[in-house]
Amino acid sequence: MLPKLAKDKHKESKDFFKKLKKKPPKQLDYLMQELHEAAFKETNCLECANCCKTTGPLFTDKDIQRIAKHFKMKPQQFINQFLRVDEDNDYVLQTVPCTFLGADNFCSIYEVRPKACREFPHTDRKKFQQISNLTLKNVAICPAAFNIVEAMKKRINF
Ligand code: SF4
Ligand code: SF4
Repeated sequence: MLPKLAKDKHKESKDFFKKLKKKPPKQLDYLMQELHEAAFKETNCLECANCCKTTGPLFTDKDIQRIAKHFKMKPQQFINQFLRVDEDNDYVLQTVPCTFLGADNFCSIYEVRPKACREFPHTDRKKFQQISNLTLKNVAICPAAFNIVEAMKKRINF
């Protein structure tokens, strides 16, 4: 099980990210791109959907406007029906699994889905060392992120 695997590796990964933050390799952005693409080539998100089932995204104002328009709703109506404000003052889903996730693991609002959904698990973003805390959480949710971090540890020797 992924949460257990991630837990077993947590300390090792935490130490790794500490070093990464202090001394990020020059080619880190390129390496992340490569590892991200390789991992997602081997991953079928439709067989997983664990991110949609267990966490769900935060919704920016732009996301809310775009998705509300898609449903021909007013942004405030959309907020009232689907969202709540979390402890960080962000709009998030009222319930998980995500309301927009189908039984077949397809996203029913795929074309207009939140930015956070498009970018999850953020393993191809620039300056990856800056989101270590988030990544340490995501490796327990996302098998691709877990594999990417394990591959990083093999490729970057401190
Ligand atoms: S948790 Fe990761 S592997 Fe699973 S569906 Fe989400 S992005 Fe894809
Ligand atoms: S909006 Fe779509 S991609 Fe985002 S969490 Fe919901 S089902 Fe998943």
